[in-house]
Amino acid sequence: MSKVVIIGAGFAGHTAALYLGDALGRQHEITVVNKYDYFGFVPSWVWVGIGHMKPEKTVFPLEPVYTKKNVQFVHGAVTEIHPDEQFVLAEKADGTGQEKLEYDYLINATGPKLNFEGTEGLGPKAGHTYSICTLDHAKEAAKKYAEMIARLEKGEKLKMVIGTGHPGATCQGAGFEYLSNIHKDLVNRNLRDQVELTWLSNEAALGDFGVRGISAKIKGEMITSEEFTKSIFEESNIKWKVQKGVKKVDEKNIYWEDYEGKEGQIAYDFAMLIPQFLGVPIKYLDKEGNDVSEKIVNKAGFTIVDAIYGLDWPTLAENPDAWPAVYQNPTYTNIFAAGIAFAPPGSISKPHVNPNGLSITAAPPRTGMVSGIIGRVVAKNIIDLIKRGQMTHHERMTHMVAACIASMGDSLWDGAAATMIMYPVVPDKRSFPKGNGRDRFVTHMEMGLAGAWMKRMLHTTFIWKFKGLPGWKIIPE
Ligand SMILES: Cc1cc2nc3c(=O)[nH]c(=O)nc-3n(C[C@H](O)[C@H](O)[C@H](O)COP(=O)(O)OP(=O)(O)OC[C@H]3O[C@@H](n4cnc5c(N)ncnc54)[C@H](O)[C@@H]3O)c2cc1C
Repeated sequence: MSKVVIIGAGFAGHTAALYLGDALGRQHEITVVNKYDYFGFVPSWVWVGIGHMKPEKTVFPLEPVYTKKNVQFVHGAVTEIHPDEQFVLAEKADGTGQEKLEYDYLINATGPKLNFEGTEGLGPKAGHTYSICTLDHAKEAAKKYAEMIARLEKGEKLKMVIGTGHPGATCQGAGFEYLSNIHKDLVNRNLRDQVELTWLSNEAALGDFGVRGISAKIKGEMITSEEFTKSIFEESNIKWKVQKGVKKVDEKNIYWEDYEGKEGQIAYDFAMLIPQFLGVPIKYLDKEGNDVSEKIVNKAGFTIVDAIYGLDWPTLAENPDAWPAVYQNPTYTNIFAAGIAFAPPGSISKPHVNPNGLSITAAPPRTGMVSGIIGRVVAKNIIDLIKRGQMTHHERMTHMVAACIASMGDSLWDGAAATMIMYPVVPDKRSFPKGNGRDRFVTHMEMGLAGAWMKRMLHTTFIWKFKGLPGWKIIPE
């Protein structure tokens, strides 16, 4: 009997758990350790963050799903990994101490550590800005946003800033979507004219989203995501500031450095800024208790896998094989990483270091779709290894599709959405030399009501899939 331990039950870890439980749960021991006892459908926290969706509609308890799939569940947080002796230590959430879990295969799917500390004054706990990156954060953001609405209804004029709160932040799509929902909500409340709404980000260009932007045909004309986003912002009277690395926030202002090294600031009444993502800190110890973390994680705490690291950007941009295919640690080959937890070989967009030496570079997004696909690939390879001793599955981000559906409101009747579908996520100039690395047939942008329906449908369909309900496997990640 083999033992598989999965750390983290987000898009990546939970997907892996469903496949592993389904294929091996009866004969082998599959265990998931997660900080929370529920699964959270993160994309819908955008709606929670403006009070448009009840928080409980975005979550469901994990244990009943795992019981059905023959997966054991530990509600707690892994604090130590002992790769030589093949066990992890988990601090149990009920305060009853540590649990030792032995493994033959380990999947790190811990997602990001939200590094609010990386920017002075950032974040809802010790700082002044809000976040929608956890359910509690989204609830707090909704509360503050409701206070803003009350002030606007009394006739005040306010400034709202949405975007990224660190020069190396990622996840611009989530920020963009929150911004567009706020815009639409204010329009519906007849309060839009009282708000100066600004997009502030570290992107290389508007519409870059940390994926080098996209180009697609709209009504027969080739349009870039920069032009597409610009037209949405102009039409919606949203101001924008890109190429900005936020360094500090105080009660009134957000301070940044830009690409040229100039400093600037913007005043705000309400700000939601995405923090830098780091790997979740876990101790990696050998038999003698020595730190062996450098064999497993990079300096940012992300798990080293089968990528080609250390390439400079132009070389990386030309080499699709630099992106990992099986997400396996080269030193400890029974350790895999899935979702945000794996260390990418570099940025997708062109990196930029300003004259003061500050790197203002969007980190590569590992979206929910990408995380789910990696979770499946890793699970299927572990199933292969246990059953046949050989891996047969591989999928690089240069072969994965990603969709960013930035809904403008949650209504299916007057909501709309900016839909951007890109294939592949990481441009692959070898496979698609004509489309600057992307398949022009699949890559697509559009603005319309269909996107609002698609976004709502994704919520319902994915929650169905993640609950492991009948047909879950035929719903793609
Ligand atoms: C507001 C918002 C909207 C988004 N919208 C979209 C969208 O529309 N489409 C899309 O594709 N992507 C979207 N994303 C991105 C998507 O949510 C992430 O890519 C995805 O959640 C990453 O999955 P993951 O499994 O790697 O990490 P996570 O989802 O973060 O899951 C990691 C899990 O591990 C747990 N964990 C962490 N440390 C430990 C530990 N030590 N021990 C045990 N458990 C631990 C965490 O509590 C968490 O449950 C959005 C992100 C945000 C923030």
